[in-house]
Amino acid sequence: MSEAISSDLNRLVRRRARRRCEYCQLPEGLGFITFHVDHCISQKHDGPTVAENLALACPACNAHKGSDIAGLDPEEDRPVALFNPRTQVWSEHFRQDDFLIVGLTATGRVTARLLRMNDADRILDRFDANRWNG
Ligand SMILES: [Zn+2]
Repeated sequence: MSEAISSDLNRLVRRRARRRCEYCQLPEGLGFITFHVDHCISQKHDGPTVAENLALACPACNAHKGSDIAGLDPEEDRPVALFNPRTQVWSEHFRQDDFLIVGLTATGRVTARLLRMNDADRILDRFDANRWNG
């Protein structure tokens, strides 16, 4: 069961993330899709409901991440912890190449793959976001 996130905590997470998904960087506010407050370490794995363990996530990243905290690295065939926006820096693990998210490290590769950041609909979302942002 998920613990309720207070409105203060919700606001803090949104402001800190500058209304972007902290996994795929998609801006919130396109269309009518509301982003979710995600537990970086899921509650299933005893991740607490505190600012230091919360991140803003688009519905697609949130749904694909679920309660997972690790995945298998496709290159090295070993388990690797998923990217944690609270303890890691996005640009050290990913880069955006046109509308693709490229994993630069095992963490980046595992996270991009598990969260399906490069599915066709996700690439289209980034294309649309880019168009609306000029
Ligand atoms: Zn996302």
